[in-house]
Amino acid sequence: MPIDATQSYDDENIFAKILRGEIPSSKVYEDDWAYAFDDINPQAEIHTLVIPKGAYVSWDDFSARASDAEIGGFVRAVGHVARAKGLVEPGYRLLANIGAHGGQEVPHLHVHIFGGQPLGRMICN
Ligand code: AMP
Repeated sequence: MPIDATQSYDDENIFAKILRGEIPSSKVYEDDWAYAFDDINPQAEIHTLVIPKGAYVSWDDFSARASDAEIGGFVRAVGHVARAKGLVEPGYRLLANIGAHGGQEVPHLHVHIFGGQPLGRMICN
């Protein structure tokens, strides 16, 4: 069920539980700003999620409220994970779903990294 992009942060969302270690995850990378783990229902050969450690509902919330250090750390972590997975050549895709029209289901900002195969057109209707 897609979320409302304007909702306040819910500490009990599944990615908050993963960050607290209450739910297992397939860890790919972690630093002071971000945590990365493989998606439980992969949509491509490589499908990894990167989330900020701070409590942000979505990209909208993050871009409005996060500090420059949090934003810089998170963006660098996404790039690091893609490089570590060997995706820069031949390429990959980043996706952040925001709110109902974006199809966002988990109300903690996450960037999807897709790769390992040709990914086709941007949007399938
Ligand atoms: P979105 O539609 O952008 O909110 O995507 C949420 C993503 O989280 C989906 O691709 C799910 O497969 C993934 N997901 C949900 N629960 C877990 C979990 N426990 N571990 C890893 N990925 C998950």
